[in-house]
Amino acid sequence: MTGTGSALALFGGTFDPVHTAHLRGARTVADVLGCPVHLLPNAVPPHRPQPLASGAQRLAMLERACEGEPGLVPDDWELRQRGPSWSLNTLRHFRATLGPHRPLVLVIGADSFASLHQWHRWQDYPALCHLAVLPRPGASEANLDVRAAFVPGKASDLQRAPAGRRLMLDAPWLDFSATGIRAALARDGHSDALPPAVESYIHEQGLYNVPDRSH
Ligand code: ATP
Repeated sequence: MTGTGSALALFGGTFDPVHTAHLRGARTVADVLGCPVHLLPNAVPPHRPQPLASGAQRLAMLERACEGEPGLVPDDWELRQRGPSWSLNTLRHFRATLGPHRPLVLVIGADSFASLHQWHRWQDYPALCHLAVLPRPGASEANLDVRAAFVPGKASDLQRAPAGRRLMLDAPWLDFSATGIRAALARDGHSDALPPAVESYIHEQGLYNVPDRSH
């Protein structure tokens, strides 16, 4: 099937908090594919401990981070759904909205790509979307079946077909994780891996046990 019409990319995550590696990755996808990237905080992540910040706070941090970043779009769709945020539901929703021909791209870090074979009904994904994989330090190699299910392609291949290709991105390797950033915030009240507007929001809201410097 031929891809027609402009592409849309989805980047889901806990974003607890959103950090520079997420934003550089999203920017790279938006620039390489020439399409908007929606950043979707998950409501109840099925595979991991629950977030410390509320959905509304994680969305507010994304809104601050994406201000002045054309093509990066905070999206509360998963926050508005009931129950666990299965990526499959999200992909089906956006596929139904786009129709069968427009390219739909799921953006994931290499660590998530390496565990994709454990995701709920991952075998349905190649018919629904492409993958754009961000390099991440320390990530293992992805499962052979997953690699076989998505045909390696260039940006133009993803723009020409609706789904089923994978693009391994040449984004900067940034060794940041939200876990490390939360630890730095609790210890020092600061992290170099956060946009200033996100860090001020964290202080305003007293998130992640930041030390109170007001007295
Ligand atoms: P935590 O440390 O709490 O697990 P995280 O930093 O991994 O958080 P998530 O919100 O869980 O952030 O990640 C959302 C998506 O961003 C995932 O696909 C993940 O692989 C990707 N990602 C996160 N950090 C990086 C990074 N430094 N480089 C590339 N991809 C990343």
